[in-house]
Amino acid sequence: MSAKISAKIIDGKAIAADLRAAVKAETQLLTAAHDIVPGLAVVLLGDDPASRSYVTSKSRAVLEVGMRPFDHHLPADVNEAELLALVQKLNADPAVHGILVQAPLPPQISTNRIVASIDPAKDVDGFHPLNAGRLVSGLPALAPCTPIACIKLIKTVRTSLAGCDALMVGRSHIVGNPLAQLLLKENATVTIAHTRTRDLPAYCRRAEILCVAIGHAEFIRGDWIKPGATVIDIGINRVDAGGKSRIVGDVNFAEALNVAGAVTPVPGGVGPMTIACLLVNTLRAACMQAGLPAPEI
Ligand code: NDP
Repeated sequence: MSAKISAKIIDGKAIAADLRAAVKAETQLLTAAHDIVPGLAVVLLGDDPASRSYVTSKSRAVLEVGMRPFDHHLPADVNEAELLALVQKLNADPAVHGILVQAPLPPQISTNRIVASIDPAKDVDGFHPLNAGRLVSGLPALAPCTPIACIKLIKTVRTSLAGCDALMVGRSHIVGNPLAQLLLKENATVTIAHTRTRDLPAYCRRAEILCVAIGHAEFIRGDWIKPGATVIDIGINRVDAGGKSRIVGDVNFAEALNVAGAVTPVPGGVGPMTIACLLVNTLRAACMQAGLPAPEI
């Protein structure tokens, strides 16, 4: 691989900071004009350090933009009925506009039942079946935050996605599937690849927009990437390198830099934008619940 670096690095941290500033400004307007302070309830079960750290960052971001956090920490052995009761309480609380139950949930809890119990109007994660169905049907919906983040990042380097060959590698209901729907909404020509896809490198080589969410460290190689492509790396993988642990994406970043037109780094790409988009969804939810138009941010 030559040492020539051609790709623009999409700086998710800086773009997320701009988005948070825009959310803060819109939140101030909403509060001043309608006396509404958007509230986000985050429910954490147990003491998983990664989940705890996500929840702490989310609460900090909520406060920084002038919203109100409602944090609920339950023990890992809580039963499903107790969690459902808490969700019902949050559904009924007018100060709470968004509800997020931090995954993964312990085995005694059905994730599907909990997600389905959240009021779809407060479903800022966009995982409720009603929101997923509305997204596929082309109706207004709260879409999941990571896919929204990816579209916003792509738009920083491409004015239009219309007609572009887009490949979504991964088809999970939290990332791959909804991102494919959002790409389609932008009029890209979308292909979805998964574990049964034959000759994944050949599909990748055609893609002008390559989005990857598979959870395999540095799986996508530089020579699979179309020259000039926009590469969005959603993967978060912890690897050991010389006794030190570090986070890498699903794309071999060093190789991608030589070929792609633009690429997101890991960390510092999709991750920070996901939290910023959670704030956007909370603001949207607060506006929708008040019968107000959601700001265009
Ligand atoms: P899932 O495990 O739910 O889904 C992985 C998907 O990738 C599946 O559809 C699977 O296919 C597909 N896949 C796995 N291996 C291959 C392969 N070798 N070739 C082609 N397709 C493959 O993962 P998630 O979608 O939840 O997450 C994916 C990654 O994104 C993870 O690293 C996760 O940590 C990260 N993530 C990052 C976020 C962020 O904010 N940056 C937010 C959410 C997730 P099949 O359906 O056939 O099994």
